[in-house]
Amino acid sequence: MRLCNAQEIMALDRQAIRGLGVPGVVLMENAGRSCCDQFEQAFSRYFPGPVMVVAGKGNNGGDGYVMARILAERGWQVRTLVLGQEASISGDAKVMLNIIRRLGLPVDFVETIPGLQNSFTSEPALIIDAIFGTGLNSDVVGIQAAAITHINESAAVVFAVDIPSGVDSSTGKICGLAVQAALTVTFDHAKIGLASYPGAGQVGELQVVDIGIPQAGREDFSTNVHLLEKVEAQALLPDRSSSGHKGTFGHLLIVAGSPGKTGAAVLAGSAAERSGCGLVTVAVPDAIHDIIEVKLTEAMSCPLPSVDGLISLQAEVQIEQLLTQRQSLAIGPGLGQSSGLSDLIKSLVKSAPVPMIIDADGINLLAGQLEPLGEHREQTLILTPHPGEMSRLTGLSVSEIEANRLVVAQEFAVKHGIVLLLKGARTVIAAPDGRVNINSTGNDGLSSGGNGDVLTGLIGGLLAQGLDGFSAASLGAWLHGRAAELVAASQGTAGMIASDLLCQLPVARQELVK
Ligand code: ADP
Ligand code: ADP
Ligand code: MG
Repeated sequence: MRLCNAQEIMALDRQAIRGLGVPGVVLMENAGRSCCDQFEQAFSRYFPGPVMVVAGKGNNGGDGYVMARILAERGWQVRTLVLGQEASISGDAKVMLNIIRRLGLPVDFVETIPGLQNSFTSEPALIIDAIFGTGLNSDVVGIQAAAITHINESAAVVFAVDIPSGVDSSTGKICGLAVQAALTVTFDHAKIGLASYPGAGQVGELQVVDIGIPQAGREDFSTNVHLLEKVEAQALLPDRSSSGHKGTFGHLLIVAGSPGKTGAAVLAGSAAERSGCGLVTVAVPDAIHDIIEVKLTEAMSCPLPSVDGLISLQAEVQIEQLLTQRQSLAIGPGLGQSSGLSDLIKSLVKSAPVPMIIDADGINLLAGQLEPLGEHREQTLILTPHPGEMSRLTGLSVSEIEANRLVVAQEFAVKHGIVLLLKGARTVIAAPDGRVNINSTGNDGLSSGGNGDVLTGLIGGLLAQGLDGFSAASLGAWLHGRAAELVAASQGTAGMIASDLLCQLPVARQELVK
C-alpha cells in the first residue's frame, strides 16, 4: 500500500480544489459522510450513543461538523464540542458549522481548560476525534492537549477522523501526546504516520476511504514509502526453476558465533537453510567448531582462526578464499567484539566481492565509523540494527530513534549508500535511493533472543538467491514476521522461541506463490 506524507496529501487536495475547481466543501462533505458510514458499520451496537464530536478549529473540525449533522440525521444523539471561539472558525469548516448551528444541534465552544473539564462531565459512549488532521506540525499544548488527555482518560470508544490527533502524519512521531483511537478513517491515502510506530500504535483499526479527489492530475504523484503487505511481498519473490539444482539457488557464507553464542550461528544457519537457498556454509571460531558440527546438519561448517575464542584478523584470507565460491555473506550474529574483529569487519565492508548483510556485533563493531559505509562497495550492503544497535551506530539515543524511525532509517541509508533495516514492531527498510518499506507482519512473539539471528540468515539466503538488497531485506522482514504470525496462530506469542519460526518460514513463503 502506498503511503503518503502531509505535503503529498495537501498537494493532492490543492490540485483537486484549485486545479480542477472541486469545491472544498464537497470534499469535506464526502469525507464526513464516508466517516459516518464506517462509524455506523463499526459501532452500530452503541446506537444511539450518546456521541461527542470534539472539533478543532481547522478542516478536521469541519469533517467533524459534517459527521455531527449526518449522524444526528440518522438518529444518533450527538453533541459537538469546539475547542475555540465560534468567531475563530473560518472557511469550509465555518460553512459546515453554520449548518449544524441553524439545525439547532447542540454545540459548545470552550476556550479554557476549566471550561473543558465541565464539558467532559457527562460521559459519552463514543467520542469522535476531529481535533487535528494532517496539518499538525508542532507539539500539542494548551486546550488541545487537555482535550486529548480527557479523551484518553474517558471510557468512551474513540473514532479518529483522518488521523488520531497528535500523531505527525509524515513520520508517526507523537507530538507531545496523541489520541488513542479504536478506529481511524483516513482520506484518499494511508499516511506514513498511521503505519509507522509510535503513531501506528494510536490508530486502532485503519480504513482508507475515497473522498472524491479525482484521479486526474495524479500523474506526477509518486511516493517512495510503502506499507509492505502480502501483494508487495509477492512481487519480490525470486523466480524458482523446477529444474534447478543446489547450485542454482546460491551459496551463502555466514560468519558468526563465539563461546556462549553458538546459538546465534546455528539460528542464522538454520534460517538460511529455510530461505530457499541451495547451500549454506557457517564459518565460526575454531574454538566452537565441534559444537557447530553437532548442531547443524544440512549446513556445512568451517573453523576460522581465533584469539580468546573470537575470530581473529588472520581469518580474513580464509574468508576471502571462501567468498570466491559464495554468492552472499552474512556476518555478525554472536561474533563478540575485539579490535581484530573490528579491523576484519571494516576490511570486509570494503573488499567482500558479494552482497553482504551485517547484524548484531558486526554492527556494533562499525559504531563510530564516519565515512559512508557503501562508498567502496559495488555489491549491496545491508545493515539490520535494532534500536539499541542503531543508537551505537548513529550516536542518537534510543528514544530519539524510536520517535522518528522512518526518517532516521531513511537518512542513514541515503547518507551511507546502503540498505538499512531498522528492527522493531513495524520494521522499517530503507534503500540508498530514498525508498522505504514499512513491514506489516510480525508480533511480540519476536521479542525474545535469537529472532534477529533468524532474520539475518533468512535475508542472507535471499541475497544468495539473487535478490537485490532492498528486495531481500524487505521480503525477509515480511516472511520473518509472517512466520511469527503462523506460530502464534496455534500457540500465541508468549513463549514463542526463535527456533519455532524455522519450520514456518517455508510456509510463509508458500503463501506468496501464485
Ligand atoms: P543485544 O546485544 O542482545 O542485541 P543490546 O544491548 O545491543 O542487546 O541492545 C538492547 C537494547 O536495545 C534494549 O535494552 C533497548 O534499549 C534497545 N532495543 C532493542 N530493540 C528495541 C526495540 N524493538 N524497541 C526499543 N528499543 C529496543
Ligand atoms: P536477537 O539479537 O536476540 O536475535 P534482535 O533484537 O536482533 O534479536 O531481533 C529481534 C527481531 O524480532 C527483529 O527482527 C525485530 O523486528 C523483531 N521484533 C521484536 N519485537 C517485535 C514486535 N513487537 N513486533 C514485531 N517484530 C518484533
Ligand atoms: Mg540481534
